[in-house]
Amino acid sequence: MKTGLLYGIVASSKTRVRCIFCGVFIPKASKCIEEHASGTKHKENIQQMSENGITCNDKELYCQPCDYYFTEDDSVVSHLDGDDHENWMVALYDLIDGEFINVDAFLACESKEAHCDVCKLNIHCSLLNVEEHVNAMSHRINVCEELKPSNAIFRVEDDTELWCKLCDAYIDNTITSVMKHVDDDEEHVGWFAEIEELIEGHDISIENFLKNEHEKYAFCNKCQMEVICDTQNIQSHVDSESHLNQFS
Ligand SMILES: [Zn+2]
Ligand SMILES: [Zn+2]
Ligand SMILES: [Zn+2]
Ligand SMILES: [Zn+2]
Ligand SMILES: [Zn+2]
Repeated sequence: MKTGLLYGIVASSKTRVRCIFCGVFIPKASKCIEEHASGTKHKENIQQMSENGITCNDKELYCQPCDYYFTEDDSVVSHLDGDDHENWMVALYDLIDGEFINVDAFLACESKEAHCDVCKLNIHCSLLNVEEHVNAMSHRINVCEELKPSNAIFRVEDDTELWCKLCDAYIDNTITSVMKHVDDDEEHVGWFAEIEELIEGHDISIENFLKNEHEKYAFCNKCQMEVICDTQNIQSHVDSESHLNQFS
């Protein structure tokens, strides 16, 4: 991103300049401009732009989500506070929640597209397009396939069922029931909550345990050793002196 001193500062009159990001006038003296450009508010606004799809070309501000060119009266703050922009962002985040869709490049104005990580394709990032995409059967299947290995859900001989290793439970082999199990099943969600709290900051991997049906162990990268992947064993491992010594 451009961050030069005069980024966002445009001439206004003989005595004043205007910061189009902050929507304020500044006396036309290098010291005042410098002070403004290195101020917290100004920097915050530039940060906000890069997270909200607002870009500045040729001293003209443009909001990609709203497809809106700023007028003289607009500032980044006034635009972000407006209902249109906020509603758009809320709607987008609602749509992509849990869908493996990456909008970082779009919101940084580096691309006009969102990227679906599970379908491995770009989607023109309008609400309508994204909505269509997340509801498409091919996307639902891909999300479901993505969720299985990271949730210890495995095929069984009987094609109509799947087996969850964490809960030692059978679930219907349908997208809806997999999603429901992963998101709402108390035991399942509880397992993740407990284990993730235990291993946080301890450099212990559970990916292989989740991915491989017969794997019994988590792996401690600090101690370079296997630990049986349940709350009791992980708890005693992270509390053990030999493990704690690896951190000092
Ligand atoms: Zn400013
Ligand atoms: Zn906008
Ligand atoms: Zn997709
Ligand atoms: Zn489960
Ligand atoms: Zn360890």
